[in-house]
Amino acid sequence: MGFIVAVDGPAGSGKGTVTELVGQKENLVYIDTGAMYRCVTLYMLRNQINIEDMEKVKESLEKIKIELKVEQGKQNVYLNNEDVSSEIRTEKVNKMVSPVSKIPMVREKLTQEQRKMSERQDIIMEGRDIGTVVFPNADVKIYLDATPEERARRRLNQNRQKGMMDETYEQILESVKNRDYIDSHREVAPLKQAEDAIYIDSSNMTVEEVVSKIIQIIQEKKKQ
Ligand code: C5P
Repeated sequence: MGFIVAVDGPAGSGKGTVTELVGQKENLVYIDTGAMYRCVTLYMLRNQINIEDMEKVKESLEKIKIELKVEQGKQNVYLNNEDVSSEIRTEKVNKMVSPVSKIPMVREKLTQEQRKMSERQDIIMEGRDIGTVVFPNADVKIYLDATPEERARRRLNQNRQKGMMDETYEQILESVKNRDYIDSHREVAPLKQAEDAIYIDSSNMTVEEVVSKIIQIIQEKKKQ
């Protein structure tokens, strides 16, 4: 197993941006596990799968192939060989992703795939349960947080930059709070800080400040 950095935290805490930058600077393969849960959700939506029907969920999981590929410096997400990088970020998917992520069978499949990804490479993986469940022995664990209002504001800006105008600030705030609630109250692998994770509140920090703090933590760990 390679060197593993686990970054967990709620929706919009800046995990994605920060983790990708730290990965580039520290030569760690960046893995966005939220994108994997979003792919499963998109598949269920497109195929109108009743997520209460475990037989159908099981059948669907057997047909889903997810790949994360870095192309021209950008991470793209493929569902059964189709680039779905934009489609997994739509409001439709945002609404359904937490209910889908509660299903134990879904978590088992993705957790296994995530563990495999660490076998031959050094990684930085971001999600909700990376330090608690996927890699309880990770070399470095970070829990990245920010107030719900700040997180909604950041999501709104990110969406605008991508030309996605379909949600207002109020709708995003509502959806961020709703996802936090479901993610932190589910039975399997809820969102929570691992006991040995380092807590960073990024509400009043710039991206650069968070990136350099995490790099400092990684470098200190490597010296030990
Ligand atoms: O990180 P992102 O906001 O894209 O994640 C989307 C959703 O995927 C989360 O709200 C959560 O329901 C689910 N997720 C999860 N476990 C992870 C990563 C994401 O349950 N490790």
